[in-house]
Amino acid sequence: MNYGTSKIFIIVFCSIFMLIGGVAIVSAVVGGNLFFLVWGAMFFFIPLTIMRGNLKQLSTFEKMTYDWYRSEHPEHVQGNRVSCFSCGNARINVRALMNRTFHREHFCTQCGKTLYYSPEQS
Ligand SMILES: [Zn+2]
Repeated sequence: MNYGTSKIFIIVFCSIFMLIGGVAIVSAVVGGNLFFLVWGAMFFFIPLTIMRGNLKQLSTFEKMTYDWYRSEHPEHVQGNRVSCFSCGNARINVRALMNRTFHREHFCTQCGKTLYYSPEQS
């Protein structure tokens, strides 16, 4: 999983829409067209929200890896056995995250806390 490339892709992709929205806002203000202003604002703020959400999520995946969990909670990783840092339970389940994130979430079956994430390819 290359997080840098994914982030750049999201930024470029959303920027294209934001640029269209920005141009629409400017021309709406110049021409005094209210419909164009609403339309432009939508094109500007929706991608902005998506971009912020996606980048935040990617940063979380990038940070909260198995290696991170092991260094953060060494007492809860013994060999291949991982236990929950919150309640100590050793039953950890994995679920695939939807929404085309291509990541799996490793969570505690007892308290539901997310321990770490892993990319789906591995
Ligand atoms: Zn727990």
